[in-house]
This record gives sequence, C-alpha cells and structure tokens, in this order.
Amino acid sequence: MKVLVLGAGQLAQMMYLAAAPLGVEVLAVDVSKNTVVHPLSKQLTDIDLTTAINDANAITVEFEHIPEDLLAQVDLSGKLFPNIASIMAGADRVREKQLLNQHNIANCEHKIIRHVDDLEGICELLGEQIIFKASRDGYDGYGQWRLKDSNQLALLKMEFEKLDLQAVPLIAEKMSHFDREISIVGARDLQGNISCFEIAENLHYQGQLHVSIAPAPNVSLEVQNKAKTIFTQLAQGLDYVGVLAVELFQTGDELLVNEIAPRVHNSGHWTQQGADTSQFEQHIRAVLGFPLGSPKAHSVTAMVNIIGCTSFSRDLIGIEGCHLHWYGKSLRDKRKMGHINVVAENYSELSSKLLNLLSFIPSESFPLLTDEAKRIAEL
Ligand code: ATP
Ligand code: MG
Repeated sequence: MKVLVLGAGQLAQMMYLAAAPLGVEVLAVDVSKNTVVHPLSKQLTDIDLTTAINDANAITVEFEHIPEDLLAQVDLSGKLFPNIASIMAGADRVREKQLLNQHNIANCEHKIIRHVDDLEGICELLGEQIIFKASRDGYDGYGQWRLKDSNQLALLKMEFEKLDLQAVPLIAEKMSHFDREISIVGARDLQGNISCFEIAENLHYQGQLHVSIAPAPNVSLEVQNKAKTIFTQLAQGLDYVGVLAVELFQTGDELLVNEIAPRVHNSGHWTQQGADTSQFEQHIRAVLGFPLGSPKAHSVTAMVNIIGCTSFSRDLIGIEGCHLHWYGKSLRDKRKMGHINVVAENYSELSSKLLNLLSFIPSESFPLLTDEAKRIAEL
C-alpha cells in the first residue's frame, strides 16, 4: 500500500516512520516544485507527480497551505483524504469561521476586514484588545498583529494599507482572556467511526506552541464532553477522513474554538510515546480504510518543542522515558527543529523528569519549561 503526502516536512517524515511497520510506503511531494521526494532524506525520487498520484492508494496533506491547482489536480484522483473542503477550511480563516458559525460552534467574536475602512468602530465592537490574523498562510503566530489599546490602531492601519485585503482579508478577533489552551486531536475513518485522543493542554510562547501536557490535568467531564461534541460536529459536518485537530480556549467549563487543523498536529505529537496508537499511525490507518487503533493514553506525557536551537546534549535520551524526535532541518530562528516526548507514570514523576531534562538543554530556548515543571509537581 502507498500513501502520498502533499508537503515534505517533519509531519510527512513522522507519517513515513509510523507507516513503515504496517507495510505502508509513504512518499512526499515538495509542493513548491511539484516533485516527489523521500520523506526522510528529502532526496528527489525518479517518480513524477502524475505517476505518484496514480500509484497511491490514498493521498493526504501534512499542511493546509497547498497550492489550489495542485489540490484540484489531486482531488480528481478521488483518493484525497481529508477532502478538499476540509483542507480549505483549515487554510482559510474566513471559511473556517463560516464553518464554525454554520455548526453553531462557539468561537472568538470577530469581524472580517476586507478594507481598512472596515476598521471603523472596531474597538467599540470587539474592545481595545484585538488580534488581527491574516486569513491565509499564517502559522506559528506568523501573519498576526496584536492591538493592546486603541491608540495603536492608527499605526496598524498604516501597516494594513500595504496589504491586499481584497485578496487576503484579515480576521479581527477579540482577545480572549482564557484560563488555558487545550486541544482535541482525533480521527474519523471511512466508515464514519470517530476516535479521539485524550485532551492535551498547550502552552504557547510568542504565539508558538512550546509544550503540551497530555492528558491535560483537571479536565472536567463537562469539558471532555464538550470538546468531543465539537470534534464530532466538525468531523461529521465535513465528512472528514483522517486525523483532525481542534484548538480550544478554555475558560471555566466554557470552550471557544480557536482554529482547526485538517491534519496531524503538533499538540498530538505526545501520542508517539504516550498513547497506544500514535496520531501518525492513526492517520495512515484512517486514510487507507484500515480499522482505527486504540487512542488510550497509557502514561502522562510532556511534549517539548525544540525551537530555533541545536545546542543541547543528546544524552537527554538517557532520562528514563525521554525520547528525541529530530527533524533534520537547518537552523533558523523560531524554527521547530524537533521535539522531546517525556513519559511518566504521573504528573509528579513527570515534573522531576522535566527538571532533569533542563540540565541537558539551554533554558533560554525553553522559556516555559521550568515553571511548567514546578506547576505540574503540585497536581
Ligand atoms: P499555530 O500554527 O501555532 O497553531 P497560528 O499562527 O495558526 O498558530 P493561532 O492558533 O490562531 O495562530 O494563534 C496562535 C496563538 O496566539 C494561540 O495559540 C493563542 O495563544 C494566541 N491567540 C490567538 N488568538 C487569540 C485570541 N483571540 N485571544 C487570545 N489569544 C489568542
Ligand atoms: Mg493555532
């Protein structure tokens, strides 16, 4: 069996690694060149795109920002999972908001900005603290502007005048003062069965995910049910097949959807060591029509992103339950270079292991870890 992944980054790489034991071969497409490459070495293969599309049993994506002509070409094969509407809903925040509203799913109060004049009265509508997001091609906090008070609006307006807002509108979103960020990652198979992993708690720094803890501590039954309901509504509504991630803001027992990702997701990386089936294997199973695996979490896990950093001791893998996943990319500021999964029997053991981990990595590249390790010790 063969799966073709559009996109050749770390997510394609991890799908490749998860698919191999199932006897499934994964190839990746470099979407900037429309070439077929090996997902691990990134070496060009001698297979052309049309042949790879014809040979694949299923075709999927590792990120949502795929050129639309390529998506349309692949869609003609009838083997694209998730479907094109799901991918586009993840790629375009205007469509995403429409989808959420169509299903009556609570999300941040917002206004679509298609012209700078649309900013008139924005603070009266949404308050003084607003986050502006480009509706397309944003990730890891890129393509975002934050308004801290209305005095800054004139300056932002000048910035926005340089953009083509007709082509790529902005979403002006009310800044939410949530208690925490969580996500639910799960899969829907070809028969419509849904299987969700435990909810993860996600810690962001400067708009970028740094740490996930799963299962998230102190999730009430109500929050669990609400998250599962939202996931089910979206997955069914989209006739989704594959792994889907939903990012949520939690305040008390209330949930707002921040965004959806129509793919395997960074906040699901913990499943590689912390769950019976990893999200990568689950995705491969789903798109090929195999039965889904057990999503059960058998440990507590911390997933720690390695961001813009290569200077750490690989001896960290000597910590019991500590696993390094290295993406083999060249170093750039704020670039996700790899991640570390640390598994433990309980939060207090996890805390000790994270404190131990800090002796192998430069703390300035992991600004949230010390406090997080101390926090979970108290649970
Ligand atoms: P990623 O690729 O990491 O998911 P992104 O660029 O797609 O990020 P968002 O998820 O929309 O962007 O925003 C990044 C982070 O910024 C969120 O995880 C959250 O911490 C913060 N953020 C976004 N929207 C809001 C909001 N309305 N109120 C408060 N914080 C927000
Ligand atoms: Mg996000």
